[in-house]
Amino acid sequence: MTNVLTFTKTPNAGEPWDVAIIGSGPSAFTAAIYTSRGALSTLILGGDMWGGQLMLTTEVDNFPAHPGIMGPELMTKMKDHALLFGAKMIEKNVTSFEVPSINNKYFKLTTADDLYLAKSVIIATGADTSWLGVPGEDKLRGRGVSSCAPCDAPFFKDKKVAVVGGGDSAMEEALVLTKYASEVVLIHRRDSFRASAAMQKRVFENKKIQVLWDSSVAEILGDEKVTGLKIKTTAGTKQAQKVKGEEKQGFVYWNMDIDGIFVAIGHTPSTKIFKDKVELDTKGFIVKKSADGFNTLTSQKGVFVAGDVHDYHYKQAITAAGFGCMAGMDTVKYLADQN
Ligand code: NAP
Repeated sequence: MTNVLTFTKTPNAGEPWDVAIIGSGPSAFTAAIYTSRGALSTLILGGDMWGGQLMLTTEVDNFPAHPGIMGPELMTKMKDHALLFGAKMIEKNVTSFEVPSINNKYFKLTTADDLYLAKSVIIATGADTSWLGVPGEDKLRGRGVSSCAPCDAPFFKDKKVAVVGGGDSAMEEALVLTKYASEVVLIHRRDSFRASAAMQKRVFENKKIQVLWDSSVAEILGDEKVTGLKIKTTAGTKQAQKVKGEEKQGFVYWNMDIDGIFVAIGHTPSTKIFKDKVELDTKGFIVKKSADGFNTLTSQKGVFVAGDVHDYHYKQAITAAGFGCMAGMDTVKYLADQN
């Protein structure tokens, strides 16, 4: 690329940034590309560990134009692109967030060392996958342990895989996996799913999916890659009658050979600092309040949202980037309307 222009300048001490973007995943960096090219002074508060979930991922095969790129390389490219037009990034966590009041005209964002003022804010803090926390899980992540069937299902062609969870995400992961795997074992800790009736119906009708009720994963087995699971099934249940193993403290422990395991037990959005400032749903995700043509607006005027922190449905890098574009464009328009 030649002749890149820097469209924005850094505000003087004590002056506000046009926009502060909190987060440093695909949504945050895409938003920054749009706000800085929209001539807004743009501060990215990227966190102590910048880059989001893709920094922990190996090969990414579903980001357009980059088949096979490693997660950290994709994020480095996005960061470099975001900074190309004049956005500044601070690698610090935001520890508190204050909305404007009678005494304060601007949003106040505090890190361990500094206070930043901003005329508008884009929340792009993402969500963390909830993991099982069992032995073997950390060691084998990316080597048979995954949380994204649309990303990793093709690696399990004609293999036997397990999915853990009983919500809509688990149903969806299992259904995606049936396109590739020879057998999908859906492991759930109770004897009924919480997923919607429609999703359950699709799962029960799919001959490749076998449900293991009243069971959870005690350990993920394998050295270089996943080879099996140690399962614990609640003793005295119908399921327990169908398995053979050692009974201990109310559970039957037994092993199952498996090539991969997909954990789908929910996500935890990073929204602690926004509680009581911006409306959250019961699970802590930011609620969008689309109004006046602003699709990414939150309940707080001047605060927009992008990515997995509000999107529990798609959760993809490319959709996060798309939401970042929308939030960036909304912010540019919002500030233009204020003048
Ligand atoms: P969820 O609805 O909270 O379900 C999480 C599942 O994981 C539950 O079945 C839960 O078991 C189980 N679980 C939690 N912790 C566990 C642990 N430590 N060990 C084993 N199992 C554990 O989460 P989700 O499925 O990610 O869905 C989140 C939201 O997104 C929901 O509102 C959902 O409707 C929505 N969503 C919708 C769609 C769709 O419409 N197509 C697709 C995906 C997600 P218990 O049931 O025993 O608590």
